[in-house]
Amino acid sequence: MTLFDVVFSGNDAAYGLAEGAIDAAIEKYGADKAVSFPDTAYSLPCYYAVTGTKVNTLGDLKNALGVVKTLMTREQRLNDAFMSGVATALCAEFLEVLKYVDNPTPYEAPCAGHLPDAAIRELGVPLVTGDIPGVAVILGAAPTAEEGVELVKSYQAQGILVTLVGGIIDQCVEMGYKTGANVRVIPLGKDVTAVVHAVSVAVRAALIFGNIQAGDAAGLMKYTMERVPAFVNAFAPLDPVIVAAGAGAIALGFPVITNEETFRVPKSLIVQKDISKFNATSLEARDIKIKVTKIDIPVAFASAFEGEIIRRGDMQVEFDGSRVDCCELVLDVEDASKVEDHKIEVIGPDIDEFEVGSKHSIAYVVEVTGKSMQPDFEPVFERKFHSYLNCIEGVMHTGQRDMIRIRVSKDAFNAGFRVKHIGEVLYARVKSEFAAVVDKCQVKIYTDPAECTRIRHEVAIPMFDKRDERLTTLTDESVDVYYSCIMCQAFSPSHVCIVTPERLGLCGAVSWLDAKATHELDPQGPCQVVTKEKPIDERIGEYEDVNEVVKKLSQGALEDVSLYSIIEKPMTSCGCFECICGIEPLSNGVCIANREYAGMTPIGMTFSELASMTGGGVQTPGFMGHGKHFIASKKFMKAEGGVARIVWMPKELKDQVRDRLNETAKEMYGIENFCDMIGDETVAEDPETLLAFLTEKGHPALSMEPMM
Ligand code: SF4
Ligand code: ZN
Repeated sequence: MTLFDVVFSGNDAAYGLAEGAIDAAIEKYGADKAVSFPDTAYSLPCYYAVTGTKVNTLGDLKNALGVVKTLMTREQRLNDAFMSGVATALCAEFLEVLKYVDNPTPYEAPCAGHLPDAAIRELGVPLVTGDIPGVAVILGAAPTAEEGVELVKSYQAQGILVTLVGGIIDQCVEMGYKTGANVRVIPLGKDVTAVVHAVSVAVRAALIFGNIQAGDAAGLMKYTMERVPAFVNAFAPLDPVIVAAGAGAIALGFPVITNEETFRVPKSLIVQKDISKFNATSLEARDIKIKVTKIDIPVAFASAFEGEIIRRGDMQVEFDGSRVDCCELVLDVEDASKVEDHKIEVIGPDIDEFEVGSKHSIAYVVEVTGKSMQPDFEPVFERKFHSYLNCIEGVMHTGQRDMIRIRVSKDAFNAGFRVKHIGEVLYARVKSEFAAVVDKCQVKIYTDPAECTRIRHEVAIPMFDKRDERLTTLTDESVDVYYSCIMCQAFSPSHVCIVTPERLGLCGAVSWLDAKATHELDPQGPCQVVTKEKPIDERIGEYEDVNEVVKKLSQGALEDVSLYSIIEKPMTSCGCFECICGIEPLSNGVCIANREYAGMTPIGMTFSELASMTGGGVQTPGFMGHGKHFIASKKFMKAEGGVARIVWMPKELKDQVRDRLNETAKEMYGIENFCDMIGDETVAEDPETLLAFLTEKGHPALSMEPMM
């Protein structure tokens, strides 16, 4: 048998299974029975991406199977094998979606099954920043559970997102290894067909970020090959279905590494007998480079631990800013002689001296000095602390400024973790990430309660107040330049964000100060200065110089862009936006949905569906992706009348932005408690009920000029 024959026979087997299962389902439920994956705007994402057709019913699914058959040509050529691989993935998708008929949650913990669109959008920023340098798909059972877990752990320690299919899942359970999206190890499912949920992520990345049109199979495969850094580790024994699915992975550009003595295809199907070398072989095959930061602490440090949760029972001690005085602070020290590089001081008792489970004060001050350092960068560094400390295995950090909470787990404590290690981490990360502006850095960590009170009230709070003052005076009019950000071009080749003081990047992670710091740190990097000297139309915020930059950075894909309008030349979206807003015609306003919100909006679309209307770096009047912080900005849809257009948003989001939004509405229109006039899911999920509510509240949008 040739490799082609193995692929073909695996494909035939998968096809046979899908056909049988679909027929049985139609027999049971009828051809009109609805079928789809939950929380996606792309129906069956793989089938939709390859063919451009959405499947809605079991009858459609049967027709889709007919289309798949046409891909299953049987010449002994590479393309036939690839397309049969793709056909196998599609059959797997059909088998998987059948699990969701009449059951929105067929998977049980730890398995996740289908991943929602929102989870893919969330991956946007960490993938472009290299925080997640790659995606591993591990398939089958390792020779021993120890070897399997070692492999998983090795990827996790590099920040690689790990997905698991088949026997490896039980091996992780057996070894008591923690899995879950929060630690970036996601068991998909135990059947081999669950591998399609990983494929689905890659395919939706192309649709969401890449502006790849559904049905453009060649464009899709080019996109995943060039931009999705995924690879497959498949453990022996391989059966023909796995080999056929592997051909599908290879067609998408994902190399397959296996320990089974089988056919070899250079760079694509690689035999590596030694499991301990899977990691290195895989990274080399997919050309993934890992940034290493060596930090002198007794526990692991990796971005995969960022979402780790430490429960009360597992915690050794807690520092709790909501109860006692705590704070974190970066200070730009003018006099360089006052900073001794890598000096870490602990002032007060250490964790050893605290009772297990007790609460304490902590204040850490990171003092930096450097010729190009500016006080404006202090908050930029400081905001990174959350991520730095969370990357420590066994440490959980929440909040910022003087409202922080840090938990240290018993495991971390027993491994030797002490207060000074917080300093080691802050020092190492600040020095490596901000090397261009920080010459020297020292850290003072206070645990003495009286000192914490002093630092918080006499040093930190006055500093925070001063910075807030600066932020309120930072308006689009008060600065001379804006910044462009093209970080997301890694996935969304024509997308450009223009970041202004009053409009942060749509990912929510890049404010004007962040962009300024990024530019200063790396002048040739993703953030460039954009002048704004040649206004075309102040009302919508259009400038000749901004247009020029956008045109150049989008390689001509975009001609002109406005900063303040959702209708006229709106800014584009890559896909990783925190929120999406869209026009709701009946109430003459806009509804906003945030990524976390899974329910329905009065527009008749969920977040995922709304989100699918924009992205990929193209302008889509009527829909706009944006950061949460932008909602309370005076520049939010300024051209259409401003925040008074907001008629609906999910309750949780409303609560998050309430104070600032109320303030803005009061200043702009003299309206008190504006948020009380805005509907949410507890009030209405349809336009008529919403309109009745808005009418009762006297919402300003109702009397504004028609939007369309
Ligand atoms: Fe991407 Fe825009 Fe955020 Fe930059 S500011 S990372 S381009 S979304
Ligand atoms: Zn993005």
